[in-house]
Amino acid sequence: MIIKAPKGTDDITAQDSYIWQFMENKAQNLFENSNYKEVRTPIFESTELFHRGVGDSTDIVNKEMYTFVQKERSLTLRPENTAGAVRAYIENGMHRLPSPLKLWYKGPMFRYERPQGGRKRQFHQVGVELFGIQEAIADAEVIKLAMEYLDELNIPELSLEINNIGCPECRNDFRDKIRNAVQPGLEMFCADCKVRYDKNPLRMLDCKNDTCKELLDTDELKETINSDYICEECSTHFDNLKKYLNILNIKYTINKKLVRGLDYYTKTVFEITSNNLGAQNAVCGGGRYDGLVEMLGGKHTPAVGWAMGMERLMAIMPTPEPNKIKAFVVSNNTYKALELAFKLRSKGISTDFDLLNRKFVKQLDKASKLNADYAVLLGEDEINSGTVTVKNLKTSEQHTLSQDKIFDIIEY
Ligand code: ATP
Ligand code: MG
Repeated sequence: MIIKAPKGTDDITAQDSYIWQFMENKAQNLFENSNYKEVRTPIFESTELFHRGVGDSTDIVNKEMYTFVQKERSLTLRPENTAGAVRAYIENGMHRLPSPLKLWYKGPMFRYERPQGGRKRQFHQVGVELFGIQEAIADAEVIKLAMEYLDELNIPELSLEINNIGCPECRNDFRDKIRNAVQPGLEMFCADCKVRYDKNPLRMLDCKNDTCKELLDTDELKETINSDYICEECSTHFDNLKKYLNILNIKYTINKKLVRGLDYYTKTVFEITSNNLGAQNAVCGGGRYDGLVEMLGGKHTPAVGWAMGMERLMAIMPTPEPNKIKAFVVSNNTYKALELAFKLRSKGISTDFDLLNRKFVKQLDKASKLNADYAVLLGEDEINSGTVTVKNLKTSEQHTLSQDKIFDIIEY
């Protein structure tokens, strides 16, 4: 019996890995260029971290975690990376570094969900977190960074939705208002929503269940949602964010039903969706989480960040050009071929050569098949005279020159 990869996971094959590298390199260049430093946290964490850091009323914690017990310790494969980044921030005393502290990460996340297009059990995220700034300029910076990244990947037709879900104080009031508004029809809501009603009624607003959506479509609820429950500080913050987005020329719509799946958000939440994906159309989700650092045992630290799903980005971005080698050494002297290939490689010129010592013409064929820019020919004549013939495979132009002049033609 052939053993297959677990359901909901994918291999990244040799043919495709360059696409991942392309996306990761773009992320690294853009984020480091913006003074974000990479953080790498463990793939598994104490289960408790996600209970406290992601929240007990979330789908992630309730249904989607891969949890296992080892020597009586409960551990969980990370379903997201904000909780881990915050834990690492506190544990490593990163609050003592100059503020603001800007972090980015990339890597696999794990959620036990029904696999379908754009929904995997092991998937990959790239994300940023900005610690230490409570003003809306930080929200604007991370949103702009998300837009820049999507632009670098040449992804068209995206929509940004933003909302302000307030702070724990103003939200309390809002929670009660929602409870009152949905209470009459509560029996008809889905089982998840009945639990949300008690734990976090805001989350009922973005339930994907069709019956729930209909039940929420009442005038009373619309009025409740549109009522101004947000306190002055939170609304000023939101107004400021909108000013920054306008100045940056970033188009957005306000979606008052956007509450996002995670419990830790405060004030700003946002989502970027693609018009070219099916049901799973969210490519980026994020928001402000001013209470999380404290909730996980650190000093009160405002923070804001986002995460993007790399598989979903890949599905809508134009496929980049594959990596190819620059030079292919063609020779029937295996010793000399090996030596010259490494000489070229040592100068950063991507090079391969024939390990099977096939006929000269076969080797030349191979160079063309690999789409190399140059074939570097080392025949008997060349070896005897200490020269090399460099053939440009695009133009078929060729020059014989002394070996130490080779880099005059093949640039690095
Ligand atoms: P969704 O609406 O798809 O359930 P989410 O709200 O659970 O998304 P977040 O926790 O905000 O997602 O994660 C950020 C991004 O990670 C999402 O916008 C999406 O692009 C991606 N993502 C989340 N879950 C998966 C998954 N199971 N498979 C692939 N990508 C995912
Ligand atoms: Mg989800």
